[in-house]
This record gives sequence, structure tokens and C-alpha cells, in this order.
Amino acid sequence: MENTELISSSLEKLLTKRPLIISGPCSAETEEQLLATAQRLKATGKVDMLRAGIWKPRTKPGMFEGVGKKGLPWLQQAKVLTGLPTTVEVATARQVEDALAFGVDVLWVGARSTVNPFSVQEIADALRGVDIPVLIKNPINPDLELWTGAVERMARVGIKRIGLIHRGFSSYGNTEYRNAPMWHLAIEMKLKYPELLFINDPSHICGRRDTLLEVMQRAIDLDYDGLMIESHINPDEAWSDAKQQVTPEQLNEMLDRIVWRKEETNSEEYHAALEALRQQINHIDDELVQMLSRRMKISEQIGKYKKDNNITILQTNRWNEIIEKALVKADRMGLSREFITRYFDAVHMESINHQKKVLDS
Ligand code: PEP
Ligand code: MN
Repeated sequence: MENTELISSSLEKLLTKRPLIISGPCSAETEEQLLATAQRLKATGKVDMLRAGIWKPRTKPGMFEGVGKKGLPWLQQAKVLTGLPTTVEVATARQVEDALAFGVDVLWVGARSTVNPFSVQEIADALRGVDIPVLIKNPINPDLELWTGAVERMARVGIKRIGLIHRGFSSYGNTEYRNAPMWHLAIEMKLKYPELLFINDPSHICGRRDTLLEVMQRAIDLDYDGLMIESHINPDEAWSDAKQQVTPEQLNEMLDRIVWRKEETNSEEYHAALEALRQQINHIDDELVQMLSRRMKISEQIGKYKKDNNITILQTNRWNEIIEKALVKADRMGLSREFITRYFDAVHMESINHQKKVLDS
């Protein structure tokens, strides 16, 4: 199939396109549904890759678990019709084999697999010696070690093109999001692997349509490389994840509304202004470290008096007083209470450690 070869030779280039937009239904349901979704996505001119769940990891038995292998020829057909390369979730060696046999271009590891080293290793072993890009979703629990472990397992079997998909983390009783984004964890991962493709999946973070755009914009503001968004020709009737899917046309509209940001500019004025501000920040950070060090030295002196008089390190009343005062001040100075609480807790902990050293000496 000539068309297919052409697509695979341009895949490398595609993976470096920014922003990289991946879309398609949560699940392939019927041939008609998949082909129609693919064609309408193609018509937007904004989508780079077609996604579709073929095997669906469902929380409870008896739910729709995907059409299975019989959906793979539909994906092939969609690719021939639209020229869009395809991506599918794989969770077992058998699924890897089937996906490869039907020419799927990119594989992804789902959140429920990333948590399980046995599954990740099984997928990796099935991929040994295969040159295919693999995208790895974050594990459902907020554990960066598992996410890192999956990256390492893929790298060890020789997978060269690895990408990360941030789809949020499961948390009990969270109503705002289906999966809490915990942006700081994703950013930590991005800083650890700056060379890996970094994709945001607003659909599984939001679990609903009305907040998708907000999360998409946030991801673009944070310099993600691309987005994976679920779309369906008739979202309300979708066999899985109905609430979070949008039509290809709604997706088109949302992509039009996003303010796209770039990481760099040649503007000299911008660079000069930024440089001046960064100098100030460096200076302040430097002072902060020096002041913290001075604070700890005073703490040690207190520790010495406590030792001589046999007094406990932890003085709850005194500490509550400090926090109270700081919070009042935080409000006035435009700092969030959450930040000030975390900051003071960290300072307190460090201070206790310094005093403990004195008491133990
Ligand atoms: C999906 O992409 O449809 C999916 C099952 O995602 P996750 O692994 O993030 O739950
Ligand atoms: Mn889904």
C-alpha cells in the first residue's frame, strides 16, 4: 500500500510538528462511525493523527470492552481515506502483535498499564527490535517513579521515539476534574525528560466537555508539544466516555479559540526586558537563600538554650502564632495562603532538623 509507506516515511516529521494534534473516538465502535469521524477530523485541516481505542480497559466487567481486533482493518481504511496516521492503546503482547500486523503507526500505553510493571514489561518485550513510536500515559496514581519506569523499560528494548501523555491522576472525591491534573507532577516529568514529546490529554483530565478548552489552553501556556482530544460524530451516544467527547467540528472551533504561544522569539526588546527581570529574580533568590541560612543559624542558637534547659524542640503555640501572623500578612501581600502554609511548613521542618542536630550533639 503506497499511501501507507508515504505516511510512515513522513511520520518522523509529523512527530516533530508543533502543536501535534491527535484526535478520534475514545473507542472504535463501528466501521461507519470510525470512518466518518476520521473524515470529519481530516476536514478540519488541524488534526495530525487519528486515535481510537480498540481494546478498552474498563473498570467493571460487562461494560463495553472495545470491538477488539476486528476494528483494526477499519483503522487501516481510515488511514487510506484520510492520510492520517493512526494510534492505538496496547496493553498486552497479543495486542501489540495485532496492532503491528495491521500497520498501526504509533502505540500508546494506557494509564492502567503504566501502573503495572508486569504489563509494561510485557508490552516492552513484545516491542523488542521494533521501530515504532510509543506514547506513555501517566499512571493513574500520582507516582512519577512508575511513569519513569515505563519510559526506561521502553528505552531498554530499543524504542527510540518515546512520548509522554499527561492524562491526570485519579483521586477520591474530586468533583472538579475526572482526573486531577496535578500540573506540578507533569512539569517535573517534562523537566526530567525535556527531549521527549509531551502531550496533554484534556479529555481524561476533564471528563466533561465544558472545561476542555480551559485545560487545553493551560497545556499550551505550559509549552506542551501537543494535545490528544477525544472526538466522536455523535458524542452523546458514544459507547464509552460519552460526556467528554466532542464532535470534530466542536474540536475545530476550540482549536480556533486557543491562543497559541511560542517558546521563543527573536525580538531584542523582549530578550532585553526579560534578561533585566531575570537578573532581579536571581538577586532575590540569592538573598532568600542567605536569609534562610541566617534564620537556621539563629534556630541553632535557640536549640542550644533548649538543650541547656532540657526543653522540647516543638513548641506548638509558638509555631501557630508564627503561621497566623504570616497568613494575615500573606493576604495583604497578594500571596496565596496555600503557598505560605507550605513555605512555612518547609522552613519549620528544616528549623527542627537544625535544632535536633544541636540537641543530639
Ligand atoms: C483512553 O485514552 O481512552 C484511555 C482509556 O485513557 P487512559 O488510559 O488515560 O484512561
Ligand atoms: Mn476514553
